[in-house]
Amino acid sequence: HSKRIGGDRIEVFKAAMRARKSDRLTVESELRRSIEREEIKILYQPIIRLEDRTIAGFEALARWDHPKLGRLSPAEFITIAEEIGLIVDLGNFMLDRTARQLSLWQRTTRSHETLFASVNVSSRQLLRQDLIQDLRTVLARSSVTRGTLKLELTESMVMENPEHAAQLLTRLRELGAGLALDDFGTGHSSLSYLQRFPFDTIKIDQSFVRMSSKGTRPVILRSIIALAHDLGMEAVAEGVETDSDAVELYQMGCEYAQGFAFGQPMTAEAATKLLASHGRMEVAR
Ligand code: C2E
Ligand code: MG
Ligand code: MG
Ligand code: MG
Repeated sequence: HSKRIGGDRIEVFKAAMRARKSDRLTVESELRRSIEREEIKILYQPIIRLEDRTIAGFEALARWDHPKLGRLSPAEFITIAEEIGLIVDLGNFMLDRTARQLSLWQRTTRSHETLFASVNVSSRQLLRQDLIQDLRTVLARSSVTRGTLKLELTESMVMENPEHAAQLLTRLRELGAGLALDDFGTGHSSLSYLQRFPFDTIKIDQSFVRMSSKGTRPVILRSIIALAHDLGMEAVAEGVETDSDAVELYQMGCEYAQGFAFGQPMTAEAATKLLASHGRMEVAR
């Protein structure tokens, strides 16, 4: 089972990182050169419009193809990138590439100009004033439809300094970025603050979608969806692995779903084929 193998490899990697300081330094310097060496790859995971099961957008997810260790997941390298200050370069790379890819899709596929793409932003990027200028540059270069390049931020990130975040997010929104609140429900956000942040989307954390308790799960999901709608936002459910989850979420009024039921994170080439081949997504079996 691939998850198991992946998990074991993470342990091997982490053990190696702990074992010798020199190993850690090697990984750090390898990571510093990974962007220019084109080892950082972007996979795009489809986000499905539940009403008609067409592709509404994609989330861009980073992977590091390490020459010796193979493909590493964000859990294995994002923290290191943050610690060595590389996350800003990595974040800009993700934003720039994703914006270019989105622009291409909007111009060449029938999914037309409303297709969106979202990019995860780290708290280190949010703290820097340059994010505004960086985003302005990326948007000017790519000419994507206003609001379709979305930044994904978590509750804990914006709650670190809510006043600053509210101002920054308002400016990013004015520049034409979309804003999604990622992993909603896992951090502690103040509901009174939530309405002051100009998010257009709430992403319901996968832990709620995959809850086993039949009693509380629908209550929680319905509440989050209602909260999103009351605040004028749309809801995306993360970690949707089965068709019955998708049906249930649609009946609850959730607009979008993302998860293995509809598609794994895939290369830009595979995503382009998918956009071109059919309008409606089949559930993977
Ligand atoms: P996230 O933003 O919440 O991304 C969703 C994660 O859930 C992805 O893991 C995706 O592969 C996984 N996923 C999607 N559907 C399913 C499903 O049905 N079942 C299960 N079990 N998992 C599903 P991934 O790609 O490993 O990314 C993990 C996290 O790393 C992301 O969580 C995000 O916080 C962070 N990340 C990824 N790319 C970047 C990046 O470019 N920059 C930053 N700062 N963080 C990133
Ligand atoms: Mg995300
Ligand atoms: Mg998420
Ligand atoms: Mg997550």
